[in-house]
Amino acid sequence: MSTRAAQFQATVRRREPLSDHLVRLVLGDLDGFSSTGVPDEWVGLVVPGQFQSRYYTVRSHRDGELTLDVVVHDVGLVTEWAMRDCVGDTVTITEPKASFAPPAAASWLLLVGDLTAMPAMARIAETRPDLTTYVIAEVPDDLTGYLPDGVDVTWLAPPAPGQSALAEVVEGIEWPEGEGYFWMAGESAQMRAIRKHLMREIGLPTSHYDVMGYWRATAGRQPRAVDPGPIWRAGKAAGKTDEQIWADYDAARAEEANDG
Ligand SMILES: Cc1cc2nc3c(=O)[nH]c(=O)nc-3n(C[C@H](O)[C@H](O)[C@H](O)COP(=O)(O)OP(=O)(O)OC[C@H]3O[C@@H](n4cnc5c(N)ncnc54)[C@H](O)[C@@H]3O)c2cc1C
Repeated sequence: MSTRAAQFQATVRRREPLSDHLVRLVLGDLDGFSSTGVPDEWVGLVVPGQFQSRYYTVRSHRDGELTLDVVVHDVGLVTEWAMRDCVGDTVTITEPKASFAPPAAASWLLLVGDLTAMPAMARIAETRPDLTTYVIAEVPDDLTGYLPDGVDVTWLAPPAPGQSALAEVVEGIEWPEGEGYFWMAGESAQMRAIRKHLMREIGLPTSHYDVMGYWRATAGRQPRAVDPGPIWRAGKAAGKTDEQIWADYDAARAEEANDG
């Protein structure tokens, strides 16, 4: 059986800036693509003239169109492409993968993330209006209206451009009562610190949280982004928990950075 993920060609139909650092790209002509329906699903995106991919959350997939909300950083492979007029360009995307899996008895969701996590947090909140949802968002822009109504949101500014203090924030939060699910995504070193905190201080079972490193703080372009798809599939096949799989992913990224 091939372990290679299916790939799809798509055309950029629209490009809509949402804020200073967030650009919405709407892709069409996606023959054969189907969504997992899981709200934090992501795809690999390869832009024209490149062969490396970067990973983006499917903000929505409806009426044959796939929407990605792309953060533009100071530099970056996708950043530099998304900053200019890319309407009409052909891109490649990989089949979607997802990891959000709250326990059936959850009554609340606590979602924590930076700007790159906003698409997933918005889609999760939209998909689960039955759960009381708290969001802690560390973003440099005014994104009022980006999250659905009814969400209890705390907006925080990043301590400095390109930096995050989310680990410290989470270490100081008051946890909601009862059974719930904690979902968090952002800079990888911060996410590693939070996994330790959840395991050692809070004693949360791994089935009750999902903490994902979405990007690595490095100078300049990332040498190569590691594809979470094969690690995800191999981990699932080996019966690993989401937590173990994301730790494997972080280890693979650290190795890549040392080699790069
Ligand atoms: C499962 C998954 C889902 C994701 N979903 C989204 C999404 O919906 N939208 C989105 O924009 N991103 C998302 N990301 C993160 C995105 O893949 C990375 O931010 C990626 O590095 C951006 O690629 P680039 O080519 O623009 O920059 P790169 O060439 O990869 O990096 C260039 C520079 O930018 C810095 N950088 C990268 N990300 C950030 C950041 N968030 N804040 C500050 N500096 C940064 C790097 O450290 C590096 O110095 C997701 C990642 C994963 C793993």
